[in-house]
Amino acid sequence: MSATIIDGAALARESRSETADRVAKFRAAHGWAPGLATVLVGDDPASDVYVRRKRKAADAAGFVDFHRHLPGSASETEVAAVLDELAADPAVSGILLQLPLPQGLDRYALVDRIPVGKDVDGLTTTSQGLLARGVRGLRPCTPAGVMGMLDSAGISLDGTEAVVIGRSELVGHPAAELLLARNATVTIAHSHTRDLAEVTRDADILVAAAGIPGLVTAAHVKRGASVIDVGIHRTDSGLTGDVRFSEVAEVAGWITPVPGGVGPMTIAMLLANTITAAENAAELSG
Ligand code: NAD
Repeated sequence: MSATIIDGAALARESRSETADRVAKFRAAHGWAPGLATVLVGDDPASDVYVRRKRKAADAAGFVDFHRHLPGSASETEVAAVLDELAADPAVSGILLQLPLPQGLDRYALVDRIPVGKDVDGLTTTSQGLLARGVRGLRPCTPAGVMGMLDSAGISLDGTEAVVIGRSELVGHPAAELLLARNATVTIAHSHTRDLAEVTRDADILVAAAGIPGLVTAAHVKRGASVIDVGIHRTDSGLTGDVRFSEVAEVAGWITPVPGGVGPMTIAMLLANTITAAENAAELSG
């Protein structure tokens, strides 16, 4: 193997411990600990697992838990009322509406009820606008984790050719914007891209977020490239990503593993966003 592995698990531990220190400082300064509200609608098993993990990590960092679980039959008005209540509560520093929502609920309308200062998932229209403008704001957690991993490895981005595979609102699109903000020359490949390998072969930085197991092979990767695998797929032999790790590791310069890569960083970035939201709110009111 020629590539150096970027250890997302270790990096996430470090970040979570820094967040816990910031939470402790906040508590000492203000006499109360910031809260994270996770809102889960319905009983999707995967969402349930994700929300549990987020709450456990938030608790370990010292945040107060404001979890709300609504039945899958909840109306849009009912979900909106819960979000509005959390939005108005000064003890709640961050609000996360777990996606996907049950059919019939308008995720855009509901997400946009979250005030931008509490939007720790970075998904409201306003947060997306701040990102597009390159103005300070809370960034979506998974793309923020991608950037954290590149930075931790000391990979310089300015002037590089970066290719992001995937253009989702949650991952691909914001990852491309963050890379652009760091002066990479960014190409976004997606499901209509005619020849993926042709596009990715020249990339210095390759972010794989297509959600297709093993999509990225050695033939897609330039020698020495930095390859960040966002994909997560549950298989009989465990978790795997969008990148064929063993063959790509022979060509890449840097690579992230699955598990132990972007996944743990996503939760770490959520916690970092939540303490940032609390600090920003305290600064504004103080
Ligand atoms: P999505 O389905 O919303 O988007 C997938 C994107 O990939 C689309 O833009 C699509 O155009 C593109 N795509 C599909 N097939 C392609 C192909 N053959 N070639 C090029 N592009 C193609 O998925 P998402 O929410 O962006 O998630 C992507 C992956 O990342 C999934 O595996 C998901 O589980 C994983 N994910 C991981 C984390 C984490 O914390 N590590 C967080 C979110 C998502």
